[in-house]
Amino acid sequence: MVGPDIAIIVPVAATINACKSPSTRTIQPPYDSFMDSLIEPSTRAGLEPDTISIANVNLSLGSGAARVHILKDVSLRIAPGEAVGLIGPSGSGKSTLLMVMAGLERPDSGEVVVNGIAFNALDEDGLARFRGRHVGIVFQSFHLIPTMTALENVAVPLELAGRTDATERARQELEGVGLGARLHHYPSQLSGGEQQRVALARAMAPDPAILVADEPTGNLDEATGNQIVDLLFAKHRERGMTLVLVTHDNALAQRCDRVVRLRSGHIDGPATGRHWIETAAR
Ligand code: ADP
Ligand code: MG
Repeated sequence: MVGPDIAIIVPVAATINACKSPSTRTIQPPYDSFMDSLIEPSTRAGLEPDTISIANVNLSLGSGAARVHILKDVSLRIAPGEAVGLIGPSGSGKSTLLMVMAGLERPDSGEVVVNGIAFNALDEDGLARFRGRHVGIVFQSFHLIPTMTALENVAVPLELAGRTDATERARQELEGVGLGARLHHYPSQLSGGEQQRVALARAMAPDPAILVADEPTGNLDEATGNQIVDLLFAKHRERGMTLVLVTHDNALAQRCDRVVRLRSGHIDGPATGRHWIETAAR
C-alpha cells in the first residue's frame, strides 16, 4: 500500500464547489474517482491488494531491424508475501519481466502497480526513489562495487537514501547472512558465494516489500547455490516479503508458492495463484 513517505496530492472536488450557494452545492466525497483509480480492483472487492500487479504489458527493445517484441500482453498478479518462481527458456523474457516489476524498464504499454504505486505516474526520479525503498534486487553476477568493502557495498545505498544508521544497519544485515567476519573485505577477497551473500544483504537492508532475484545461483557451484537459496527463502519467511525468483532450475522453482512460466514473451498458464483462488473463495 501507499507508504508514509509517499505523498499523493489529490484534487479535492469539495473545495471547487465551496463557493457555490448551499442549494446548488453538490456534496462529493473528497477522493472520488481519482482515488478510486489508485485502488486495485481486488481491494474494492474486499480482497487483499496485490503487491505486484502487471496488466497487459508490452515491451520492445532495440531499434530498426534489431527491434524485438519481448513482452507480449503480459498480465500477472502477485499477492503480498507470495514467493513466485519465474521459469522459461532462455530468451523468453524472464529478466525483462523482472526489470519491469523492479521499475528498471518501462513498458511501451500496459500498467505496473507495485505496493499500491502505479509506475506510470512516477517520473525517473520518483521511480528510483521507489526502488530504493521498496524493491530489493539480486543479480546473477552480484553487481558489487569492487572498490568498496562488503560493509560499504551495503551501507552506501542506505546512506544515499538518507539513513543515518546506515553502517550499523549494514553490519546487522551482513551478520544476518553469516558475513560478520568479512565486513572489511573487498569483493575480490571474497568467494562467489560470499559475494552473493553481500548482494543479498544489500538488497534486504532497506527492508523492501519485494525482493526480485535473477538467476541468483547461476554463477555458483551447486552446494554454494543451495546455501544461497536456503538463505533467500529463510529471509523471505522471516521478513514476509514478496519474492520473485527467476531460475532455470525446476526443483528450485518448485520451492516457491507458485511457478509462473514464460514462453516467447507470453505467460503460460494462469496469471493468479493459489492464494488468490483461496482468498476469493472465502
Ligand atoms: P531471459 O531472461 O528469459 O533469458 P531476456 O528477458 O533477457 O530473456 O531477453 C528476452 C529477449 O529479448 C531475448 O531474445 C533477448 O535477446 C532480447 N533482448 C534483451 N535485451 C535486449 C535489448 N536491449 N535489445 C534488444 N533485444 C534485447
Ligand atoms: Mg535472463
